[in-house]
Amino acid sequence: SYRHIKIPTTGEKISIKDGKMVVPDQPIVGYVEGDGIGPDITKACLRIWDAAVDKAYGGKRKIHWCETYLGEKAAGLYDGNYCPDETLKVLQELVVSIKGPLTTPVGGGFRSLNVALRQDLDLYACVRPVRHYRGVPSPLKHPQKVDIVLFRENTEDVYAGIEYKTGTPENAKIAKFLREEMKAKFFEGAGIGIKPISEFGSKRLVRKAIQYAVDNGRESVTLVHKGNIQKFTEGAFRNWGYEVARDEFGKVTITEEQLYGEFKGKLPEGKIVIKDRIADIMFQMMLLRPDEFDVIATTNLNGDYLSDAIAAEVGGMGIAPGANIADHVAVFEATHGTAPKYANQNKVNPGSLLFSGVMMLEYMGWKEAADLITLVYPEVVSDGIVTYDFARQIDGATEVGTSQFADALIERI
Ligand code: NAD
Repeated sequence: SYRHIKIPTTGEKISIKDGKMVVPDQPIVGYVEGDGIGPDITKACLRIWDAAVDKAYGGKRKIHWCETYLGEKAAGLYDGNYCPDETLKVLQELVVSIKGPLTTPVGGGFRSLNVALRQDLDLYACVRPVRHYRGVPSPLKHPQKVDIVLFRENTEDVYAGIEYKTGTPENAKIAKFLREEMKAKFFEGAGIGIKPISEFGSKRLVRKAIQYAVDNGRESVTLVHKGNIQKFTEGAFRNWGYEVARDEFGKVTITEEQLYGEFKGKLPEGKIVIKDRIADIMFQMMLLRPDEFDVIATTNLNGDYLSDAIAAEVGGMGIAPGANIADHVAVFEATHGTAPKYANQNKVNPGSLLFSGVMMLEYMGWKEAADLITLVYPEVVSDGIVTYDFARQIDGATEVGTSQFADALIERI
């Protein structure tokens, strides 16, 4: 038994059998309320998800929620500990969970909670679906052309934390080694960071992206990299990506050369094109020709920039959903922060957490419930019933609070 977490006795745990996830009709799913605006959006979303599941399965299926604690709420319960071990243990044990935004305490001593979660649960794929919903304000002329799912590598690259500050003995040591033994040239006193990209890390990420494309009938996977400059890291990512496609998905994948060569530009039924693009070009392409892209697989830093840029094309961070996923264990999350100035005002947009929950329902195989939400959402927004962030961009909109927005959705589910 745990100190503060109570596992519901009414549901059953999700399990893994023969490498596959088994979801019972009454699963226990973990959640973390989050800090700042977290409680407002979590309360609203729990009601919406429950209503969708109830409607879709007529009471046969039901989620049994298990509250777990991270961030400020955890600190209050666990003597100042923002990241209690029992929470990490339960999130692992329950396989599927969803979390609101968490405060990152600034200053020494703390790992970012999101980084801690990622490392401890080895959530190596950050998954961000980005698509447009009718009625949502967008700076693009044809936002409906954006419909991509981005897989960002979550564990290596410049985020590995191998950095040496100017003026330290460690920096002097590595600078000396690089100059004297490796004959590298760079300015005196440079800060030094190291970018590790491995075959293991690259392949497991690309494997997940291609598997997603296979499972969801997607037509292409684009490897985004900066391999023209960083040949042995970004370039290697690209090469390992093509290797996974060829060696493990050879029956269902073709290259772009094959598409325009032997297949004369027409994608054969059931095949997926594997292509690659240089990261800078990709930013242009996602603005100019977003319909040419489907699933994207990329390294950590590229993915960080690209996912926010693409999200901004179709309504911004207020509604962009996300998840961090290991082989099976998955933590779905709001992608925005805690917006402390709006905490407890019943004001902000629950869209990001809401659609993270839609992803979660899809991940559990509960597509009917997920579809109900994606169906009614554009109806409500098109009627101009929106929270303040959208209201200021839509003429004649009716601004409502977080819980009233949830009510409007639930009425139509
Ligand atoms: P933020 O996303 O919290 O807020 C920036 C602004 O975006 C807000 O002032 C608000 O105007 C708007 N906004 C954010 N979410 C919204 C929503 N759901 N609806 C409408 N408007 C919304 O970013 P910040 O101010 O840079 O960070 C605040 C705190 O959140 C920090 O402690 C930061 O570390 C943390 N943070 C956490 C996560 C996470 O847990 N995943 C992500 C980013 C930031």
